[in-house]
Amino acid sequence: MPARSTAATRMNRIVMINEERCIGCGACVSLCPKKILYIDTKGGKCKVADESKCDRLRGCVKICPVQAMKIA
Ligand code: SF4
Ligand code: SF4
Repeated sequence: MPARSTAATRMNRIVMINEERCIGCGACVSLCPKKILYIDTKGGKCKVADESKCDRLRGCVKICPVQAMKIA
């Protein structure tokens, strides 16, 4: 259902980013094999574009220096 998947994406149910912790280093963005992470130019924080493509292998979780990433 389109409406439901939109809501799920907005709520980041798979890729959860603690924006208070994120320092915007971009390490996870460079590493992500699915290219679904990006740095928001306004806030300088990591965001996820389409978490439904996430492979859930947690590369971003391992590389993040401030433990800002969580994968469900
Ligand atoms: S788990 Fe992998 S595919 Fe998913 S956001 Fe992290 S690096 Fe990208
Ligand atoms: S690796 Fe961590 S601190 Fe760096 S941009 Fe990604 S979430 Fe933010």
